[in-house]
Amino acid sequence: MRLLVVEDDKDLNRQIVAALNGAGYVVDRAFDGEEGLFLGETESYDAIVLDLGLPKLDGVAVLEGLRKAGRATPVLILTARDRWSEKVQAFDAGADDYVTKPFHMEELLARLRALVRRSTGHATSDLVCGPVRLDTKAGRVAVNGQTIKLTSHEYRLLAYLMHHMGRVVSRTEIVEHLYDQDFDRDSNTVEVFVGRLRKKLGGEIIQTVRGMGYLVAPAADGEQAGKVTGPAR
Ligand code: CA
Repeated sequence: MRLLVVEDDKDLNRQIVAALNGAGYVVDRAFDGEEGLFLGETESYDAIVLDLGLPKLDGVAVLEGLRKAGRATPVLILTARDRWSEKVQAFDAGADDYVTKPFHMEELLARLRALVRRSTGHATSDLVCGPVRLDTKAGRVAVNGQTIKLTSHEYRLLAYLMHHMGRVVSRTEIVEHLYDQDFDRDSNTVEVFVGRLRKKLGGEIIQTVRGMGYLVAPAADGEQAGKVTGPAR
């Protein structure tokens, strides 16, 4: 999952980015509203953390700009305790959730998990596909009840595919959502990680849809995932 943090307070920006990196997200950062709006319009994020009091362009204007540009990315706003009218304005402009400063990082992380989950249509923090269970809260993956060790890259890739279960995800989309701007987009890193994941999870969970991308198919009743449309490698 790839997130954008727009916060002009350098210390707070750094703390949030560190916490999000620690939780396995790829994070881009912006320190003013113009930069935030530009990145939000041009890059693909799974959620945006947006401070309301920003130089150049305030948070509500950033939000309005994003929604006007047709960007439906979930946005969590950061707001001061006594600014209730600002909060109302932000929700009307398209905000999805908020935390009040000062906040506990744990709460911000939990709210972001919930936002990403809801925006991809999942009601609980555990995502299940056949024998594979991904606990988004603990960042753990189990196969047939047995916890398996994944690198952070492998975990991110699996988490993205499982959040978008039942939909073919292209390689371009994976690169956009899993790596920061400096990543070499022409490399075959994604295939390499998919190959490693398949080895750890069992081959049929992640299917290749020729010419289109990858698919984690939710298991049909009484069926193992992967047998729904047949393995395609
Ligand atoms: Ca601020």
